[in-house]
Amino acid sequence: MPKPKLTLVRGDLTEQDVDVVVNAANSSLLGGGGVDGAIHRRGGPEIVAACRDLRATSHVDGLPTGQAVATTAGRLPARWVVHTVGPVHAKSEDRSGLLVSAHRESLRVARELGARTVAFPAISTGVYRWPLADAARIALGTVRTEGEGFEEIRFVLFGDDAYRAFEAEL
Ligand code: ADP
Repeated sequence: MPKPKLTLVRGDLTEQDVDVVVNAANSSLLGGGGVDGAIHRRGGPEIVAACRDLRATSHVDGLPTGQAVATTAGRLPARWVVHTVGPVHAKSEDRSGLLVSAHRESLRVARELGARTVAFPAISTGVYRWPLADAARIALGTVRTEGEGFEEIRFVLFGDDAYRAFEAEL
């Protein structure tokens, strides 16, 4: 299986013309701030409607941390949104396994959909406060080992600090 091309982009996840954009969602699946808010604003009401359906059927208790589930991408250029929940960073406990899982499960769902190109944000580095350098190491390390068969896996970094952290790890 070929290795994917790993790329870094400084910009807005919602503008990416890829098969799958990964959303750094929260367990409720019903929207939040940060990248989640941007996806719901740009993607329109179809995405939240699909999330409500999930809450009424397969995910009545929401989406557990480290797992992933797909919906339509609504009006986004992408074909699907894969929602995942990263862990909140904690000094008292090592939750990096859950951050690995969020990336791995997102790729698993994307693969099931037949996606060839996937764009990730820097999961957990916003309100969940994961340090950027460590998040970049975990994210890139995981997609390197779990990304076989994809054409391109792209990280879309919003700020200069995030971009530099991922660039240093690549
Ligand atoms: P989390 O709750 O997982 O920390 P956030 O959405 O708060 O998720 O932040 C994750 C990362 O996404 C942060 O680095 C934030 O700067 C970045 N971000 C916010 N909006 C966008 C966007 N439109 N495109 C790409 N990245 C974004």
